[in-house]
Amino acid sequence: MGNGTKRVYVGGLAVGAGAPVSVQSMTCTDTKDVDATVAQIHALTDAGCDIVRCAVYDRGCADALAEIRPQISVPLVADIHFDYRLAIAAMEKGADKIRFNPGNIGDAEHVRSVAACATEHNVPIRIGVNGGSLEKDLLEKYGVTAEAMVESGVRHAEMLEKYGFSDIVLSLKSSDVKTTVEAYRRAAGLLPYPLHLGITEAGMGEEALLRSAIGVGSLLLDGIGDTMRVSLTGGVIEEVEAAKKILAALDIRRDSVRIVSCPTCGRTRVDLASIVSRVREALSFEGVKPIKVAVMGCAVNGPGEAREADIGIAFGSVNAAVFGRGGILYTDKLPGVIDRFIEDAKKLCTKE
Ligand code: SF4
Repeated sequence: MGNGTKRVYVGGLAVGAGAPVSVQSMTCTDTKDVDATVAQIHALTDAGCDIVRCAVYDRGCADALAEIRPQISVPLVADIHFDYRLAIAAMEKGADKIRFNPGNIGDAEHVRSVAACATEHNVPIRIGVNGGSLEKDLLEKYGVTAEAMVESGVRHAEMLEKYGFSDIVLSLKSSDVKTTVEAYRRAAGLLPYPLHLGITEAGMGEEALLRSAIGVGSLLLDGIGDTMRVSLTGGVIEEVEAAKKILAALDIRRDSVRIVSCPTCGRTRVDLASIVSRVREALSFEGVKPIKVAVMGCAVNGPGEAREADIGIAFGSVNAAVFGRGGILYTDKLPGVIDRFIEDAKKLCTKE
């Protein structure tokens, strides 16, 4: 993604300039509680999170990073607001990246020292523009709009560029999906920096998932975005799972089997939903090859879709036809054909 952007490295992980879109989340433990924070980072890593961010709100949190860092395997980002001394302390204690808006500190000399420290430690800085906390003059000029967000991002970036620092990642989050998408589209045409995507304060549950999927998904389809976070109230693991589902839905990054199944209709003579559940369960294992498997309810529209998959099945009333590699592999009787199909699909998605 983001082929036109520059590339930064967060620890050993490449972000931007065509690197795979990475998934981020943020711990909700108190960063000073090292054991709880490390445990949550391990859970996030197991769920597939590539980068983890922790809130650093005081010196104790910055100190905790030095203990957390050696115990985890993913890059660690320190989230800092306002206090440049905490930004410097976090980098000295081993943060691989900081989230910090230079415009939030008044003194140019302080910005210079943050930029110098980041250069010395090879630490990129994410500028996180948030529609809810824009500068007063921009709000007066534009209101909470995409123009205001992008102009704010440009201002923050220029403060770092002034000191020769350009390992910048930019986010332009708003709780409004349309404003967010517009802001990222504008920024992508204007600035060379990798973009961190997300809809902020997306809320809870299904509504939040849809808002994130539509916002982040629209941008990813445009080829915009280099790293992403799905913000959900009440569930960091769910954030990572949702991010991965969005990437898989767009075929950007997939580490699970893609099951294509029809909605069923009056032609269906089998309990397709329970068959799909069995197939899904049988093909959800660690290290699965992400093939496409079709499970279709009839012999009218089923064969077309089944033929397009790596392996597929189309059900009649007493028989089912199994397809693969563009043609029919065999037909067999119900219900035995279901087990045979599942076994064959399993073989196909087991990596040698
Ligand atoms: Fe109906 Fe067949 Fe289409 Fe499934 S594939 S919805 S059973 S027509």
